[in-house]
Amino acid sequence: SGKNTYRYFDESMDQRMRYRVALQQELDVAIREHRGLSLRYQPQVDAYSHAIIGAEALLRWQNDHGAWVSPADFIPIAEESGQIIELGRWIIRQVLLQLKDWRKAGLDFGKVAINVSSVQLSSSFVADDLLEMMAELELPTHCVAVEFTETALMVNSSILAHNLARLRESNITIAIDDFGTGYCSLSYLKELDAHYLKVDRSFVDGIGISDSDECIVSATIAMAKGLGMKVVAEGVETQQQTEFLAKQDCDAIQGYFFGKPMTAEEFAEKLSQRALQATL
Ligand code: C2E
Ligand code: MG
Ligand code: MG
Ligand code: MG
Repeated sequence: SGKNTYRYFDESMDQRMRYRVALQQELDVAIREHRGLSLRYQPQVDAYSHAIIGAEALLRWQNDHGAWVSPADFIPIAEESGQIIELGRWIIRQVLLQLKDWRKAGLDFGKVAINVSSVQLSSSFVADDLLEMMAELELPTHCVAVEFTETALMVNSSILAHNLARLRESNITIAIDDFGTGYCSLSYLKELDAHYLKVDRSFVDGIGISDSDECIVSATIAMAKGLGMKVVAEGVETQQQTEFLAKQDCDAIQGYFFGKPMTAEEFAEKLSQRALQATL
């Protein structure tokens, strides 16, 4: 495997490789024919009022054998093969078409966050694509947010710089995903001046259990606030986590406690229920 490192080619490596190749081929067909691919929407709520202020769009893939393949498994493969560029474009279009539908139905609740891979950001004109599609569908820029991890910023690419500049000048909300788990130095973060930091689920998990996780969560919130950013906590599953986060001045919360990723229909239903409750 290079650099004077020898590794025996064992059977499990062979199996992994074959799994990868098979997955890549299946994914190719899925992307080409838009087969088995769909999106779910997970609510994001205000940390104090618990009102829905947005949603994160999350990709799902059910392969031809009926199995649900986790995005954590197939996104990295699509990134490595470059398939993520075309897939990413499809995701953006689907989200925007959905937003258009919701707005037509009078459901104007906030922003939908779209996950953008570091590969898309550094090697495709993803910001221009997004802005072009939004203009075509006459969608205002305040209804979307773009999420990417801090690690995406570490790539040295003029395309990345162009994408970031385009997002900034068009006032598209930028959120840094999984904060604290990547390899970004704080100076990159300062320079980017994103609108939101998303505290990673691994730290939220430790609230009420681990002093160090609690310390990381509070320090992250304080730092983000100091830099003029807002904070979303992800993976919130309990009342205790919710209360801790509100006390630490976290702005928004996302997690199973308030709703799992759901279909567009289920999300619209949830919004109408909430609106009805508010008028009672
Ligand atoms: P992410 O962007 O950090 O998304 C959050 C993940 O946490 C989602 O997993 C979501 O279902 C899960 N989650 C949310 N709340 C909870 C909770 O309370 N408890 C637990 N245990 N999990 C929770 P999912 O949907 O499996 O996605 C995994 C990752 O795959 C995402 O992490 C993102 O990096 C990637 N991904 C998903 N959809 C897309 C997409 O459309 N484009 C790109 N480029 N990546 C995507
Ligand atoms: Mg995300
Ligand atoms: Mg995340
Ligand atoms: Mg994540």
